Amino acid sequence: MSLSEEQIVRYSRHILLTPVGGRGQEHLLSCGAQLIGGGGALATAAAYLAAGGSPVWGDQGSVGEDEVGFLYDAQDVGLPRNLRLDAALADLNPDAMAHRSGGALARSPARLSGPGPWVLIGATEGGAGIVFRSATGCEKCFQLNAARLAGDDGSDGEVLLGTVAALIFQRLALEMPPSLGGFWIGESGEITPIEMRACEQCR
Ligand SMILES: [Zn+2]
Repeated sequence: MSLSEEQIVRYSRHILLTPVGGRGQEHLLSCGAQLIGGGGALATAAAYLAAGGSPVWGDQGSVGEDEVGFLYDAQDVGLPRNLRLDAALADLNPDAMAHRSGGALARSPARLSGPGPWVLIGATEGGAGIVFRSATGCEKCFQLNAARLAGDDGSDGEVLLGTVAALIFQRLALEMPPSLGGFWIGESGEITPIEMRACEQCR
């Protein structure tokens, strides 16, 4: 795909950033994320990705009160998330409704499928965690470390968690290394890399 004049204007900040550029923006526009699960972090991540041109689409489920903010308003609570997401995207950035294939952005526990990138978020004792893999990262290693993220609903720090998750997804879509990894995010916002466990084949 090549960028239209309108897209060059819309994404000019990205295109001027060396790691993104025109080719990179084409990658972002063609590598989308299915959102699996709900919560403020995923809603934040979806808004961030969509504004940057990455396609996002929803799963089953309805908009929760904790998702009201960037994409949904109070009237959306209780309505089907995928329909309300499409309505929000039509206003925010219709590019984010095209090319719906690629990866997933999910809240633990979730079954992820498709080539990738995969970004999984989950609450942990004293904060939250993110585990990710690109389309080339080992699926087994991802699953092994994803199991370390609890499924508790986080409530604090959801905006930070969602912003970091979106940034990681964009980096993976741009094929920037590493292809596998994770971060813990502490209650006070400190971000530290997860010491990843390796699967039998990768040991
Ligand atoms: Zn492995």
